[in-house]
Amino acid sequence: MIGGPHPMTPAPYRVRSRRPDRADTVTLTLEPVRGDCPPFRPGQFTMLYAPGVGEIAVSISGRARSGGYTQTIRAVGAVSAALCGKRPGDVVGVRGPYGRGWDVPAAAGLDVVVVAGGLGLAPLRPLVRALLRERPRHGRISVIAGSRAPGLLLYPQDLARWARQGADVRVTVDHPGHTWRGPVGLVTRLLDRIVFEPRRTCAFVCGPEPMMRAAAAELVRRGVAPGRVELSLERNMKCAVTRCGHCQLGPLFVCEDGPVLRYDRAAGLLEVREL
Ligand SMILES: Cc1cc2nc3c(=O)[nH]c(=O)nc-3n(C[C@H](O)[C@H](O)[C@H](O)COP(=O)(O)OP(=O)(O)OC[C@H]3O[C@@H](n4cnc5c(N)ncnc54)[C@H](O)[C@@H]3O)c2cc1C
Repeated sequence: MIGGPHPMTPAPYRVRSRRPDRADTVTLTLEPVRGDCPPFRPGQFTMLYAPGVGEIAVSISGRARSGGYTQTIRAVGAVSAALCGKRPGDVVGVRGPYGRGWDVPAAAGLDVVVVAGGLGLAPLRPLVRALLRERPRHGRISVIAGSRAPGLLLYPQDLARWARQGADVRVTVDHPGHTWRGPVGLVTRLLDRIVFEPRRTCAFVCGPEPMMRAAAAELVRRGVAPGRVELSLERNMKCAVTRCGHCQLGPLFVCEDGPVLRYDRAAGLLEVREL
């Protein structure tokens, strides 16, 4: 085709593997039917198309050894449920990667605080992997993960590996049940337990918006510069190429200017509720 395929046309990708993470959440490994997976930066997302159902934005949670993307999807509606139901061998559509990812180079020489709530750990996973690959370039690396219940914690094996690789990994849950002996409550409370030098720290935060607002405000209250706190916004997205306006937030298009935004730019915009 002259000029290449239309930007809205998904490429066919085959499901190579499917790992159930929780009752409503699966991680798919997706490989292009033809050619190689384009490179991605931590924090970027693709548009995943479930044939005959629809298309949603999904963060890239990693690159598999086979070269494919891993993407973690929670079944909350028609499209996400259809994607969660895909099996190895099935074909889905993929556009992207899109968006501005985490500013990994900005973390060089600084302490790093990563704060995740629930599925927010998915776009942070490739970031933590990148930071730990270049461990000597950074100061202390702390990862705080919040989960509704111990059994709902995402990527427990990664969290354990990151701790072995030198990160200070802390987990808190909302509902501890009978067996949990760890911290209970908001992720912000764990900021007391980790060690970081606020004026020499950058932070990466992803999760439900109330959690991101609280975590970012608390980091800034403790002296982290607002320009060194990054958040990933999951606003309604349709075209992902700034044409439809669904994800417009004040002067920004989340699909292109985000989803990762610095807190000094995002703070006021977070007050804008999604319709
Ligand atoms: C940049 C970006 C990255 C994203 N990354 C991921 C990801 O890695 N994994 C993932 O599963 N989703 C991710 N999402 C959300 C995803 O794009 C869809 O919005 C979500 O899966 C719902 O789509 P749906 O069509 O299945 O449900 P819809 O039909 O849109 O919604 C069904 C119901 O679920 C509610 N709902 C919608 N979204 C959510 C949500 N995120 N959590 C809880 N309830 C919701 C709606 O209010 C509605 O009541 C991301 C979104 C963006 C913009």
